[in-house]
Amino acid sequence: MIRQEMVEETVCRLFREAVIRIPDDVTLALKKAYLNEEDEIALLNLKAILDNIELARKMEVPVCQDTGLPIVFVRMGNVEVENLYGGIVAGVERATQEVPLRPNVVDPLTRENTGTNTGHLIPQVDVEIAEDLDGLEITVFPKGFGSENNNALLMGLPGDGAEGVRDFVVETVLRAGGKPCPPVIVGVGIGGSSDLAMKLAKKALLGRVGERNPVKELASLEESILDSVNEAGCGPMGMGGKTTALDVKIRTAHTHTAGLPVGVCIQCWAARRATATIRDD
Ligand code: SF4
Repeated sequence: MIRQEMVEETVCRLFREAVIRIPDDVTLALKKAYLNEEDEIALLNLKAILDNIELARKMEVPVCQDTGLPIVFVRMGNVEVENLYGGIVAGVERATQEVPLRPNVVDPLTRENTGTNTGHLIPQVDVEIAEDLDGLEITVFPKGFGSENNNALLMGLPGDGAEGVRDFVVETVLRAGGKPCPPVIVGVGIGGSSDLAMKLAKKALLGRVGERNPVKELASLEESILDSVNEAGCGPMGMGGKTTALDVKIRTAHTHTAGLPVGVCIQCWAARRATATIRDD
């Protein structure tokens, strides 16, 4: 049995890790963007981002003042867990105090802040059953809203096809301009129902930057969207330059014969995620 305290401790540590240390694949992609850049302002912006990442690591402080909405993805293997949701909530509350995280969570209408980064249905938790897993895998995903506010959903027509998907994603990213703090990573969910398309788009962001979809056609769609977004020249922080997006990642599900849902989830350069697996022993 995995005890509630173990979940709490792990979630708290993962949030600390995520908000302070940007994953190596993201940092590497930002460094490549810097080496590939020629525009003076874009170079300054990328250098500021890279210096910021380095300083946050050295000083053990969050890389951005917006430490996000707490989102947690769980893969549950063949294990028994004591009060999983209670452990996650306690871990978020502890991280808010100890790291600290900025208290971002408010009532949607009164705007009253709970002060704890928890509230009704928050932290947002997604649980997936993973029969192949020996343990409990927890991924924390603190999501900034400068990027989240630019997400979009298209309930497309079957005939829109890959070309329609491509146009919608490119248009969504370019319309966002500098608001999501580019260079961004673009998650795309194709298929399912409206909510599944959005969930797939967010889950696509859990993959490593530079890793292509294993399906050849989807891999080339990812590359084609990435090229079109970057050719438009919006650039780092929307001030012009070669790199508006570091990557595009697609996930799919089958859907209804009458529709083609497409979800787009935009992630800013502060692409924070951290994962741990807890085993029974
Ligand atoms: S969009 Fe990202 S980088 Fe920009 S302020 Fe929000 S969390 Fe920070």
